[in-house]
Amino acid sequence: MTDQLTEIVPHVIDAKLTVGGTSRHGDVFDPVSGKVARQVALADAADVDAAVSSALSASAEWGASSLSSRTQILFGWRRLMAEQVDELAAIVSAEHGKVFSDAQGEVRRGLDVLDFATGIAHHLKGEHSEQVSKGIDAWSMRQPLGVVAGITPFNFPVMVPMWMAPIAVACGNAFVLKPSDRDPSASVRLAELAYEAGLPPGVLTVLQGDKEAVDRLLVHPDIAAISFVGSTPVARHVYETGTANGKRVQALGGAKNHMVVLPDADLDVAADSAVSAAYGSAGERCMAISVVVAVGDTGVQDRLVQAIANAGRAVVVGPGSEPSSSMGPLVTGAHRDRVSGHVDGAEAAGANVVVDGRGYVPAGHGGGFWLGPTLLDHVRPEMECYREEIFGPVLCVVRVPDFEAALALVNANPYGNGTAVFTADGLVAREYARRVQVGMVGINVPIPVPMAYYSFGGWKDSLFGDLHVHGADGVRFYTRAKAVSSRWPQQSSGLELGFPTHH
Ligand code: NAD
Repeated sequence: MTDQLTEIVPHVIDAKLTVGGTSRHGDVFDPVSGKVARQVALADAADVDAAVSSALSASAEWGASSLSSRTQILFGWRRLMAEQVDELAAIVSAEHGKVFSDAQGEVRRGLDVLDFATGIAHHLKGEHSEQVSKGIDAWSMRQPLGVVAGITPFNFPVMVPMWMAPIAVACGNAFVLKPSDRDPSASVRLAELAYEAGLPPGVLTVLQGDKEAVDRLLVHPDIAAISFVGSTPVARHVYETGTANGKRVQALGGAKNHMVVLPDADLDVAADSAVSAAYGSAGERCMAISVVVAVGDTGVQDRLVQAIANAGRAVVVGPGSEPSSSMGPLVTGAHRDRVSGHVDGAEAAGANVVVDGRGYVPAGHGGGFWLGPTLLDHVRPEMECYREEIFGPVLCVVRVPDFEAALALVNANPYGNGTAVFTADGLVAREYARRVQVGMVGINVPIPVPMAYYSFGGWKDSLFGDLHVHGADGVRFYTRAKAVSSRWPQQSSGLELGFPTHH
């Protein structure tokens, strides 16, 4: 369990644990006590180069390995990870702060991607056309890129790395993971399990680090592609620098997810959904609902806000390891202060603080990074709390008169990750799904995260690049296509200098 956590969280290079050559270390906190729990090695450029060189050496043989041998390893990795859901969840909860049951859910969503990746032989099937011209056949195939990297955020230290690693390696690449330095331990365990399952050394590297490691990866000549998940400013930097250096990049950024509640919705169901989606994981989810758009007259809007406030006050905030807790602390003190500063700013700008989580401390846990659920009503689009991603347990309510005003509000927002509409009217729901400029839409589903066999990704400032993660887009991202035309002539047909035609 968590006693396996080490004092200095290492890299995994060439299937071995190492703290590398650098003396740079970062602090990893216990969000419940607020104390430094351990350190993490922070790679410098030389560590990155050593890691990439090991991955490069492994990539050629791995890329030429048979689909059935790769599949067997993926099945083994899946079995080991499934046996260790609780161990991984405990590691996540200890470093991130989310409650244990939520961490278990995260690990299971990561396992879903491994399930998908075990079908790689099917996903990599090419196309074949016989007799495209007389005596000529044509087919296509998808081949690995070589060494690909993934840079991941703190909020899902198992699930987001698993969005990438299983598909990247299943496609025949060597994968270099640079996890968040705030909760780095889970990635080490994921790699250990993969190696226990028989993955050849170097095929999955874990490189601990911060901006210094990322910036070296972005320009490293042996990295062919980069998957990034994190905040929008860093996503933009990764996309621009990576593509300028000739790499394929998919960079998923931040979010401001709206839940539109129409007057005909069951307001109690909508309120419970809003509270679960806003305060689950302390709001530190890229698909968390951060804005409820209350549609209708003042009476219906007041009833909705009241129902959300009542449900929000019932959320039990406490250590993630205690089964009675439904919400844990935030990841660091600095982040908690930033989120709480947004509430101060909203109040000063005229928002109504209906439920105030500032200063909340569960009994006996004084030093932790706590903030209780917070509900802001009468938020207007020009306020900073609406414009900025807060990424904490703060739910804003914006009131609008009708459906068209709600849709216009959502579409004017620069982010386009997820959204939900709550209504009893199928036609209106259909219209919303069709016209909203957002990548993932829920109809009476507050957090519409697609299953692993679909692809996950937002629009606008929530994604830079063309392909989403996992599902069919994941396979496309980690492979490149080749088209082959083939002829086996029985005798020469003489010179043909003209442009080939299909006759
Ligand atoms: P972050 O952008 O601070 O960090 C993400 C990764 O980038 C980390 O590995 C970090 O070490 C690295 N990094 C940080 N600053 C950097 C810099 N200046 N240059 C280079 N690399 C840098 O994000 P976070 O705080 O870890 O995670 C929360 C953010 O991630 C939120 O904005 C959230 O919406 C977003 N997120 C998005 C999705 C999605 O699918 N769109 C999913 C999860 C999280």
